[in-house]
Amino acid sequence: MTRVGIGYDVHRLAQGRALVLGGVSIPHPTGLDGHSDADVLIHAIADALLGALGEADIGHYFPNTDMRWRNAASAIFLEEIGRIVRERRGRIVNVDATVIAEQPRLAPHIGAMKEKIGAALGLSAGRVGLKATTNESLGFLGRQEGIAAMAVASIDLPEGGA
Ligand code: MG
Repeated sequence: MTRVGIGYDVHRLAQGRALVLGGVSIPHPTGLDGHSDADVLIHAIADALLGALGEADIGHYFPNTDMRWRNAASAIFLEEIGRIVRERRGRIVNVDATVIAEQPRLAPHIGAMKEKIGAALGLSAGRVGLKATTNESLGFLGRQEGIAAMAVASIDLPEGGA
């Protein structure tokens, strides 16, 4: 049985934070604010995978009140979700995501981000779709107050599984 899930996340841009997207550190004057490394792209993909499994969201599995996840590299969330998929005898078919950021230009980093996300999930980079777009200067994203990401994921689960 093939299942699909959707994920969305947004984080504020703040001074004094590193910008990490898809597990890749990207030079930029501001970075995303949050409890972990605030990797908005990985968070959206994590929620898409958890949604495909019919599980609770990323905040349930990795609460921002847990000091273990303070400044944690979000790639470990994907590794943990990959483990849950295998436990359910499932197989991730693919993930696909879009980052919405006015700045910086992400095209030069897309390949590295796909590699990192694929490695964390045990997926070939060819099963990881990734695009970046601006918000055409509109709204909070356009004013560079934050960065958003949306994702879908598809998982094959055995028939009769929950
Ligand atoms: Mg988040």
